[in-house]
Amino acid sequence: MTQHNPYKTREGGATVTVFVPYDCRNNCPFCVNKAEYADMTGFSLEKICESIVRMDRITPYCDFVFTGGEPMANLDSLQIMLDKVPNTHRVFINTTLPAFSDQPAEDILHFCERNKDKITCVNISRHMQHYVEESKDELIARLPVRHRINCVLYQRYPAEQLPAFVERWKGKGVSVQFRYDYTDTTPENLYRTEDDVILHDLKRYFTYKGLDGCRMRNGYHFEYNGIEITYHRTLPYSTIVETGEDGVTYDILYDIIIKQNGDIHSDWTGVPLDVEAYEKVVFEPDDQVWIEVVE
Ligand code: SF4
Repeated sequence: MTQHNPYKTREGGATVTVFVPYDCRNNCPFCVNKAEYADMTGFSLEKICESIVRMDRITPYCDFVFTGGEPMANLDSLQIMLDKVPNTHRVFINTTLPAFSDQPAEDILHFCERNKDKITCVNISRHMQHYVEESKDELIARLPVRHRINCVLYQRYPAEQLPAFVERWKGKGVSVQFRYDYTDTTPENLYRTEDDVILHDLKRYFTYKGLDGCRMRNGYHFEYNGIEITYHRTLPYSTIVETGEDGVTYDILYDIIIKQNGDIHSDWTGVPLDVEAYEKVVFEPDDQVWIEVVE
C-alpha cells in the first residue's frame, strides 16, 4: 500500500465515483477514461458491488456518481449497482442517453421512472461539436428525473454559437454546465480569470450571477432566458495535502474512485485508497462557499 498521510474529508464523506465495467460507443477527443476500456480483463460487476457496499458502510451519506464508459449502455447491470446504494445517498449518473435501435428510448424512460426516488440527477453529455452519438432531444424533455446538460468546451469551440446551444434546451427542464479541459488547471490558476477565454465568452453572452467554490473546484453561475448555466472548473487530481490546526498533515480527499475491476482509489491519478485507514477518516466542514453573488 502506498504511503499516505492520515485522511480527512468533508462532512458526509468524499464523493464516490463508480466506473461501470462496460464502454460507450464514442471517442471524444478530450476523454480521459476511454483507454481504460480498451482491455476489459478483470472488469467485474460483482467486485464493484462489493466496493459500493464497503464505501456505503464507511460513509452512509456520501454522494455516488456513476460514470464510464456509458452507465446506461447496460441498464440491467446499472440496476444491480444502483440496488446496492441505499437511499441515504445522492446519486448522479453521467450518460449520453444511448437510445438507439438496440435500446429504445422507452427502456431508458422506464429505468428512470423505476429509480426516480434514487436518482438525484442525470448528467447528459451534449457538446457544441458533434462528439457523441446523440439520441433525440425529445427524450431529454421526457425524463422523469432531474437532469442537466454537460458540455465540454474543447479547444477552438464555436463561441458565437453559445446562445443557440443554450436555447436548444429551453422548455426541456434542464440546466447547462459548461466544463473546461481540466488538465490545464492548477491551484495557482483555479481562480485566475484574466486569461480564461471561456469565462470571457460566457460573460459576453449570458448574465453573470456569481461564483461559488472551494480549494478544489469552483462554479461561475449565469442565466440566459430562464436557463441556469454554470461553468465548472476543477483540479485534475482530488487530494490536497494540508497541515491542520492540530499540527497533523492530512491527505484531504474530495473524490474516491471505484475502478472497473472493483479496486478503490483515493484519487483520479491511480493512487489506491487505504480503506482501513479511511474507516478512521477525520471530517471537516464542507468548504464549498459562495464567493460572489450578483443581485
Ligand atoms: S462519451 Fe464519455 S466515456 Fe465515451 S468517449 Fe466521450 S467522454 Fe469518453
